[in-house]
Amino acid sequence: MRLFDEHAILRFALLFVCFIFAALVPEILNFSDSLFMFINYIAAIIFLVYVAVFYKFPVSGNLKKMRNDVEIPESATAEPSRDYQKDLMEKDEMFQMLVDVSSDGFWTFDVPTGKVYWSNQVAKLLNVGSDKVDDSFDTLKNYVMESDWEHFREELAKSLNENHPFNVSLRLVSAKDSTTEIMVSGRPQFSEDGRPIRVVGSIGSRVSTAAIERQNYFYVYQDALTGVYNRKFFLEKLKVDIDNAAKRPDYTFAVALLDIDSFGAINDSFSTNFGDNVLRVVAERIKSSCRENDCVARIGPDVFAVVLHNIQGADPNDDLMPIVRKLHNNVKMPLQLEGRELYISVSMAVVVNRDVDCVEDIMANASAILRDLKKNGDHGSIQFFTGGIREKAMKLYKLEYEIRRAIQAKEFVLMYQPIVDIGAGNNIVGFEALVRWNNTEQGIISPAEFIPIAEETGLIVPMGALILRMACEQTKKWVDLGYDNIKVAVNFSAKQFALDNMVDDVRKVLAETHLNPKNLKLEITEYTAMCEVEKTIDIMRALSGMGLQISIDDFGTGYSSLSYLKRYPIHTLKMDKSFIDHVADDEEDASFARMVISIAKSLNLDLIAEGVETAEQLEFLRREGCRQIQGYFFSKPLTPEDALGYLKAHYGSAPAEKASEKVEEKVAVLA
Ligand code: C2E
Ligand code: MG
Ligand code: MG
Repeated sequence: MRLFDEHAILRFALLFVCFIFAALVPEILNFSDSLFMFINYIAAIIFLVYVAVFYKFPVSGNLKKMRNDVEIPESATAEPSRDYQKDLMEKDEMFQMLVDVSSDGFWTFDVPTGKVYWSNQVAKLLNVGSDKVDDSFDTLKNYVMESDWEHFREELAKSLNENHPFNVSLRLVSAKDSTTEIMVSGRPQFSEDGRPIRVVGSIGSRVSTAAIERQNYFYVYQDALTGVYNRKFFLEKLKVDIDNAAKRPDYTFAVALLDIDSFGAINDSFSTNFGDNVLRVVAERIKSSCRENDCVARIGPDVFAVVLHNIQGADPNDDLMPIVRKLHNNVKMPLQLEGRELYISVSMAVVVNRDVDCVEDIMANASAILRDLKKNGDHGSIQFFTGGIREKAMKLYKLEYEIRRAIQAKEFVLMYQPIVDIGAGNNIVGFEALVRWNNTEQGIISPAEFIPIAEETGLIVPMGALILRMACEQTKKWVDLGYDNIKVAVNFSAKQFALDNMVDDVRKVLAETHLNPKNLKLEITEYTAMCEVEKTIDIMRALSGMGLQISIDDFGTGYSSLSYLKRYPIHTLKMDKSFIDHVADDEEDASFARMVISIAKSLNLDLIAEGVETAEQLEFLRREGCRQIQGYFFSKPLTPEDALGYLKAHYGSAPAEKASEKVEEKVAVLA
């Protein structure tokens, strides 16, 4: 913008002159009384005012350099070009320049000859070489989807018949899965007598919102690892299927859940990458075993779900069975992966929509079936929904909630079952701490009813910590009373044993309760001991290094390898009650018991026989050389008070001669 405008100064000067002239009007009237002179004088003033305000001064000099705020070269003519619009239209060169600088493509369709002109840009937009572009509509027809081409033809014909512009979007064949489409627009031109001459148009590329939606849909609903649907989609689809089935009473579909057994072990033994590949193969196998419209999804880390549609037949379960069997067989076939052969086991739960009719119930029942299969050791089998499972599932959920509450409310108490040494005058060597749930409504509940649920839900970890502390506190009380050689055994579940900080936690509890580790034993089942052998051995070493002892519980039920057993730093085997039950009347059980006794002897381990109820069983064990006995024959599990009474009544004089006086004193204090 310029500071001084010459025209403005000129106009201002003229107005100033007018002002002087106007100021002199009285003088003029005095000077001449001629009216003619006066009128001329006034006319001159009006003329000058008009010029100052309205006259358009011609442009000259360096002002020519600006046109519509754009600076143009000095050499450009000041005169507007004669009929420049016409010139512009006619000049091919100018048109070509415009066409070339545009990112859009242009086309013209010459109606009389049927020839099409495509600008250079069109080849790029169609994603083809320039040699593929000719003077026909084949250029478009060959590279867009067939249905879209038909749509374009119809629109073009309509625009020529009805004289209006059109605009269509066409999907490229080469970009089937991408989000790119082209937008083709055209406008027809007609001669003065109304005949179509040509169609002129442009082509641009655009990102299709429909395709983006399709892609987003997959981000939201697809399982990234396996490519099948995810849990969210599955549940939504199931809801739709249920709603549809409600409108058609004859329509039956089934939901199958497939759980890969011991998938954690596959990850641990190989790698998570290997585990991922197993999941991919399983997903692929499920997909290829199902029909096109069956919905396959991964709904948990190692759980897949399928909706099997349109089950025919009078009894859908009959019709379903072959489908389910085929699916199960295909999935569990041996896998060849990364040069290894792997056998996988898959547990399967099947629920039919006629039995259960809402998403939550279908899923809850199917999950309950899977849980049941695992709990009962029925890995790798197929189980169909039966009525009772729903109630069972509800009961389980309620129980889980109740266990959580009971941990907070400290409703768990410990009973102590004596372990007696029959080789040393029936001296009591210690107790096994056995948990009971002292429920406000139901009274005392047995661990068989809640330990499996606590294990499954992980609640065993806080519960186990509570039990260990209670047992240590109680044992410390007895030690302080002088029974300083007794050992109290605490059961540890596999989940507790696998905790990273398990050894530190035990050390902490011992320190806080001031209990000597020699008074504590940890019992783990044979099955737990056989999981993750190397890790288990490390933990056992750390524990026995602290001075406490380890027992293998339920020995004989877990098929442990003797070579492993030899490597474990353990002190005691506990022979399972199931082998004791018939030692006195079944030769097979008797020889098994003899074998366990000789294993313990050869490995130099203590042996405790569990569940001894009769004198015959006791006699057998005495004869075969098993000295330590736990069972109803001597005592059922006792309350801490009764256990103290038992201690008092049975404690031998030899090991606690010194302590016995103390015992007498302190029992009196405690009572
Ligand atoms: P277990 O560790 O093998 O405990 C022995 C079970 O046999 C106890 O059952 C005990 O009462 C029972 N028993 C002992 N002698 C006899 C007998 O002569 N006859 C009969 N019929 N039974 C006898 P309980 O207390 O019901 O415990 C069952 C299982 O629950 C235990 O088996 C153990 O696996 C688990 N459990 C108990 N308390 C705890 C605990 O504090 N923590 C953990 N993790 N598990 C526990
Ligand atoms: Mg035990
Ligand atoms: Mg046992």
